[in-house]
Amino acid sequence: MLLKITVLSGDGIGPEVTEQAVLVLRSVAGVSGHQLELQHKPIGGAALKACNDPLPADTISACLSSSAVLLGAVGSPAFDHNPGHLRPEAGLLRLRRELGAFANLRPAILFSALEDCSPLRPDLVRGTDMLIVRELLGGAYFGQPRSIEGIAGSRVAINTMRYGEDEIDRVARVAFELARKRRRKVLSVDKANVLECSRLWREVVTRVARDYPEVNLGHQYIDSAAMLLVQRPTEFDVILTENMFGDILSDQAGGVVGSLGLLASASIGGQVGLYEPVHGSAPDIAGKGIANPLGAILSVAMMLRYSFQLDGEAACIENAVSATLSQGARTADLARKAHPAISTSEIGRRVLEAVQASAPATA
Ligand code: NAD
Repeated sequence: MLLKITVLSGDGIGPEVTEQAVLVLRSVAGVSGHQLELQHKPIGGAALKACNDPLPADTISACLSSSAVLLGAVGSPAFDHNPGHLRPEAGLLRLRRELGAFANLRPAILFSALEDCSPLRPDLVRGTDMLIVRELLGGAYFGQPRSIEGIAGSRVAINTMRYGEDEIDRVARVAFELARKRRRKVLSVDKANVLECSRLWREVVTRVARDYPEVNLGHQYIDSAAMLLVQRPTEFDVILTENMFGDILSDQAGGVVGSLGLLASASIGGQVGLYEPVHGSAPDIAGKGIANPLGAILSVAMMLRYSFQLDGEAACIENAVSATLSQGARTADLARKAHPAISTSEIGRRVLEAVQASAPATA
């Protein structure tokens, strides 16, 4: 199979973790006999530096002509004072919209080797395996009007949370379809006691659920869902929620399973899927060679599964990551006395070795 992929490394630790993810992708493609066609393009702060646009036209057209996009992360303090449309994050939001990627899948799984890395007691966290389905193109992140207006000292800021029934319906169907292949539970998270958007959300999700009688639907307010996530994380299967709630809950889920650096994501729904680790550009550790690349590497596994239906190759990467962690390899975010930290490139190399070791089984 020809795997035609655009790589957008982005900013901060983006290039560091993407480099390792691409090495693993090359290796899996090699051992499985797939042909890889990669093109690298700028996004975010890197693109702002190059051409004062966080998402240049050339980057968009490369992405739209690929089968999938692999992204590192965007964001840099250097652009903190830029107007909204000239911030790195604006490039990523536009890219998601250009790709029509309305459903963001964020699995949070506790690797058994990492029980001691969760801040929660092992007996509470053991067996955690949830999938957050976050609506990605609506809500307060995209709603108009939005502005900061007025004179210094008495300015007013406005954001608009907006959801249409069609937007809720389509992402709900993604969540129910995925739940069918898992433990058949969907928990829809909203704030229906306060927000109109959430009342409509709950109504539409309940309606969609009638088409999936085999899936058990529950509803939870975001505040109590956040509490339950740390009290009883193993009870969650598929969490379905709107854009901002999903953004926040998935970082929290990263904390529960040990580190944000482990979390991968897939943004699907359009012609071209977008795959990226959940974390940001982490300026505090950028350039030090200590970032955890496993979220980026696991994003490649999601790409192979969702854009190319290569389940065996995806599992090969997931098993290699699991085996690497079981052998005690840890980046700084996961290091403990018994398992001192190794670098981004070293853990990448060990995953690669594990991929190659399993090659005969996958080829
Ligand atoms: P962040 O995710 O970059 O970092 C949060 C914390 O987690 C930091 O302490 C960081 O060092 C740590 N961390 C993150 N990824 C890690 C990894 N792979 N390995 C080890 N530790 C890791 O979030 P932030 O600090 O709130 O934001 C930094 C910048 O990233 C901002 O400009 C923000 O807008 C941007 N951002 C981008 C994305 C994206 O590109 N999808 C997502 C979130 C934030």
